[in-house]
Formats: sequence, C-alpha cells, structure tokens
Amino acid sequence: MAKLQPVRGTHDLIGDEARSHLAIAGAAREIAERYGFAPMATPIFEFTEVFQRTLGDTSDIVTKEMYTFEDKGGNSLTLRPEGTAGVARAFISGGLQNELPLKCFYHGPMFRHERPQKGRQRQFHQFGVELIGVAEPTADVEVIAMAADILDTLGILSETTLELNTLGDAQSKEQYREALVAYFSGVSDKLSEESRDRLVRNPLRILDSKDAGDRALLADAPRFDDYMTEEAAAFFAAVQDGLETVGVAFKRNPHIVRGLDYYSHTAFEFTTEALGAQGTVLAGGRYDGLIETMGGPRTPGVGWGAGLERLAMMTDAAPAVTRAITLVGLGEAGEREALRLSGVLRHAGLTVELVYKGGLKRGLKRADRINAAVAVLIGDDELERGTVTVRNLDTGEQSDVAIADLKDHLAAYR
Ligand code: ATP
Ligand code: MG
Repeated sequence: MAKLQPVRGTHDLIGDEARSHLAIAGAAREIAERYGFAPMATPIFEFTEVFQRTLGDTSDIVTKEMYTFEDKGGNSLTLRPEGTAGVARAFISGGLQNELPLKCFYHGPMFRHERPQKGRQRQFHQFGVELIGVAEPTADVEVIAMAADILDTLGILSETTLELNTLGDAQSKEQYREALVAYFSGVSDKLSEESRDRLVRNPLRILDSKDAGDRALLADAPRFDDYMTEEAAAFFAAVQDGLETVGVAFKRNPHIVRGLDYYSHTAFEFTTEALGAQGTVLAGGRYDGLIETMGGPRTPGVGWGAGLERLAMMTDAAPAVTRAITLVGLGEAGEREALRLSGVLRHAGLTVELVYKGGLKRGLKRADRINAAVAVLIGDDELERGTVTVRNLDTGEQSDVAIADLKDHLAAYR
C-alpha cells in the first residue's frame, strides 16, 4: 500500500507550531473579550447556498475555491471558506435580532481550493470578529482598533500598515461602476483576459488586479472619490476621524476593494512586507447588505478575519512554556511512588513529566530533551527513609527532600 500523505495544501501543526497557533488565538481572544466580544463557533460546513448567496457569484471564492460536495442525504454542502457567512446565517436562523448589537469572535479552520504556496494553504486558520447591528462609523473604528491592539500584543503592529478604503453606499458604487465600465470598455483590448471577464461580471474587481498591464491602466481610471454620495463621504470621514482619535495610523489605498461582493463603506487590510507575496495578514470591512441578501432583516455589520498561519510566520518565536518537573521512579516501588507523586504535584499546579520506564539514565536523558527544570529521583533506598532526591538540572545541585515536603519544596516552579 502506498504511504499515506497529507492532502496537498494541508499542514499538520505539531508541538511549537501548534502551541504558537494557540498562543496567537489566545492573545487575540483576550483582547476581543476586553472589547466586550463573546465567542461563537459555527459549523465547519454549511449548505452551499449560504456561501453562494453571500459571497456573490463572481467572487474568486465561489467561482474557483470552494470545497463543495454532496452528502449522503443529497444535500450540497460546502466547507466554510471564511467565517462571516456562517455567523450571519447563525444570526438569522437563531433569531438573534433581539440581541443587537451582536459582538462575537471565532477561531478555526477555513478551506479554499487555491494553489498552495508560502502563506497560502487549502486548509488554513482564521481568527475573526463580527460586530452586527451597528450602523455608526464608531463600530468600524472599534473593530479596526481591536485588530491593531491584537497585532500590537503579538509584537508585529509596527511591521504592518493599515490600508484603508471606502466602497461607499449602493448609489456611490453604482455611479462608480458605470464610470469604470465606460473607461475600461475604451481600453478593453489592453486589459488582461481575466479583467475583460471582470469588466462584464464585476468591474470593481479590476482595481484589485495583480496584472502589470491592468495596473498601468489604473493610473488614469476614474477615481472613486468623484462618485461618492455626500452620505458615503461623511461616513468615511467619520471613520478616519475616529481612527485618529484612538491613535491608529492608516494609509488610504483606493485599490482595496475586497474579493467579496457584500462589502460597503469601509474596507481595510493590515499588510506587511515581511511575508513576500502573501502580504495581507488581516482583512475586513463593512457588510451592511449581507444579512438582507441572505433573507434576514436588514441589519448592518462590520468585521475582519486574520490568517493565523501568516501571523505565526511573523511572530516566529515559540511561546514560553512552563518547564517541567521530571519524576524518575527507580524500581517497582519507586515507579509506583512516582505515579502517586505525579498526581500530588500536578494538583498543586506543577507541570510534571513522568518517565514511564528505563531507569536513571533514560530518565535524565528525557529530562534533558524536554528541558525540564528539575528531576526527582525516587529509588527504593530513599523511599525507605521517606525521602526523594531532587536534582536541579541547571546547576546539578542535589538534595534529599522529605516526600511530605516535596510539593512545598518545588512551589517556585509553578
Ligand atoms: P489573498 O488576497 O491573500 O488571497 P483574501 O482576500 O482571499 O486574501 P480574506 O478572504 O480577506 O483573504 O481572508 C482574510 C485573511 O485570511 C487573509 O488576510 C489571510 O491572512 C488569510 N488567508 C486567506 N486565504 C488564505 C489561504 N489560502 N491560506 C492562508 N491564509 C489565508
Ligand atoms: Mg484569496
């Protein structure tokens, strides 16, 4: 039988890497709780419609990237490619309209069938937040400030730039769309094939193109600001004011349009030069039309998602772990006492590594490999005297300690 391989684009998180993901999610969670956000966990798969309707038929995700399959009951299901649609679905099906504003955060795997490369996997992980039910620009400011706080806690805020844009309201978008179609239709022979297709399906996304020829054409393209309604301009001004008030620096980038169709007003990305081509670590925006599109009551919302893999690459240092006390039982009675003591010490809050078998030499080797702080040697002779040998593994110092005193003796290692 062929050796089993992981599926292309998936990755096992082992040891420090898994720990680093947990630490990042834990730090993000702590900040989110401080902002008054509560955890929410939605299923990893949903009816395909949940994503198809919300992400729009022209988005990259829906057209190319979804893991869609039929289950045994004949339902079309899709592994979630992002978190917002599931939260919005839960909001509607759970009847949470009376719980507004709904403030939640989530963390977990997402699935997109894309070409794997550094910082781009087919199963990856996101931490994200949603603030539903608040139409005021303060909500945008708050979720962006929270994102900045999280990046700051992780020690990487200074390596990122907040790129901010507005997509305006429906009327601004429509006026701008017409202007873009007029402009790009005139130069369509110079557009990339993909953008010619976008011109018909979703012209705004041409602004997002990575093609050099398309980008050259953007220089003379109509500017969104000339097509914005007064209301949309005022909203954007308020968001910028708010960010200044809370001291979050940003740069206007009119080319941030976001891949998804349901965004309006604020769109933003925290980008970095540190990761090469996959430079966006956290991205989000306002989605006032989303819940209505899904058949719910018209309800505004704003949120973001951050890729844990990309955050982990930037924070690379493995989080600190409490060093263990290694218990080495020597002989049958010693092993039994080691097992008993492991419980006593763990209940006292110590981190304990029990050596399962193999005597002194193997026990100390194991202690060295896991960088234990202390080895406790439990042999028959000592047991008879009611003591154990405690060896400080940094200094090599050794002392006899009465078994009854052991937990207090080791209290400093908690
Ligand atoms: P990109 O332009 O890199 O494809 P995107 O616009 O598709 O990003 P979003 O849908 O906004 O990304 O997702 C938010 C964040 O999730 C991204 O900024 C990134 O950190 C992370 N992310 C998205 N897709 C992947 C992936 N395939 N592998 C790893 N992380 C990802
Ligand atoms: Mg993408």
